[in-house]
Amino acid sequence: MNDIIQLLPDNIANQIAAGEVIQRPASAVKELLENAVDAGATEIKLIVSDAGKALIQVIDNGKGMSDTDARMAFERHATSKIRQIEDLFRIKTMGFRGEALASVAAVAQVEMKTRRKDDELGTYIEIENSRVIKQEPCSSQVGTSISMKNLFFNVPARRNFLKSNAAELRHIMDEFIRVSMAFPDIFFSLTSNGQEVFHLEPGTLKQRIVQILGNNYNAKLVHVAEKTDYMNIYGFVGKPETARKTRGDQYFFVNSRFIKSAYLNHAVNTAFDEMIPKDSFPGYVLFIDLDPSQVDINVHPTKQEIKFEDEKIIYAFVQAAVKHALAQFSIAPSLDFTL
Ligand code: ADP
Ligand code: MG
Repeated sequence: MNDIIQLLPDNIANQIAAGEVIQRPASAVKELLENAVDAGATEIKLIVSDAGKALIQVIDNGKGMSDTDARMAFERHATSKIRQIEDLFRIKTMGFRGEALASVAAVAQVEMKTRRKDDELGTYIEIENSRVIKQEPCSSQVGTSISMKNLFFNVPARRNFLKSNAAELRHIMDEFIRVSMAFPDIFFSLTSNGQEVFHLEPGTLKQRIVQILGNNYNAKLVHVAEKTDYMNIYGFVGKPETARKTRGDQYFFVNSRFIKSAYLNHAVNTAFDEMIPKDSFPGYVLFIDLDPSQVDINVHPTKQEIKFEDEKIIYAFVQAAVKHALAQFSIAPSLDFTL
């Protein structure tokens, strides 16, 4: 009998891998925004058409790429963010898997323009089905502009599975909000079908929260801030009166990364205890910073699920910090904290 096993060609391997990283337009948005943040941008603009189905473009003023890096960026497992295994335990960047751009290039038509500040000319590159179609020098702003058109044009099953534009745009806005909430000192905008939906000037965390969640939060945020050698928690919880029947405005960030954790949600909810009705949920935007070696963010390709080295300590700390903040506020409710 003949041997029958073959290695898959790169473009097929990339397309399969893309299924995990890029499930819908919003996943691509998340990856591109995070790349812009990692590039040190102070201004990040997101432009979408047809809820990202026709176009997703991210323009940043970050550090840009060399012409070789511009091509390398689209290879699988190609990253500038980690080099050796130890680096996995001290990750400070949003990305590190080197998969996003390779995935994007496998399922969309990609064009990128990029320039580093000391280069006279930038690079223009066009990629389709994981292949470079064109690469040439071009004049360009400092930073990177990347656009992906016709997402899943070559994966009809995926494309058909996408929801209505309203639903997909909602997902995009969720991702946009999560990233922009975590970096209030960066300017962000979101333009959808030619209309600017968000225009977020740089400012304090409190200002960013109010810009995103609405003015009604302005006088209704209680400042949370506690620090130990092990970890640091800061941010805001909504006053008890802002609690709602639905879990809407609940945001947890660990080392600047938005995460989903029913366990930590529970820690906050129980800190409110008798202050809110049993079946309602408080709004909050909380940041936990701790040594990267204490968290495993490599549990899932989208990095929204993470594992803590010691979950119980964190639960207790979050609960205590929120309780403490609420207690101070109920002693002196008129005292308004500002950050
Ligand atoms: P990762 O972010 O996990 O490293 P990506 O596939 O998202 O992997 O990106 C690959 C590499 O391309 C990055 O490590 C980075 O060096 C470069 N890159 C991607 N986007 C940008 C950007 N907007 N500005 C500068 N460099 C970028
Ligand atoms: Mg990335």
